Amino acid sequence: MPRKIDADECISCGVCADVCPEEAISEGEDVYEIDPEKCTDCGTCEDECPVDAISAE
Ligand code: SF4
Ligand code: SF4
Repeated sequence: MPRKIDADECISCGVCADVCPEEAISEGEDVYEIDPEKCTDCGTCEDECPVDAISAE
């Protein structure tokens, strides 16, 4: 399953987008978003998010 960003937790720091090897994360209208079609569920973004906003669905 692709990872998901909790919009209530995300502080839009951009770290996840920088570390994603698949370039699956981009800045959305309010917070960052993960494209489920590109995400390979590697877990890197979840490890790097400073506020633990990312989790497996
Ligand atoms: S690393 Fe976490 S807080 Fe930063 S943009 Fe990504 S989901 Fe949001
Ligand atoms: S789990 Fe991996 S591929 Fe999916 S969004 Fe996070 S860093 Fe990118």
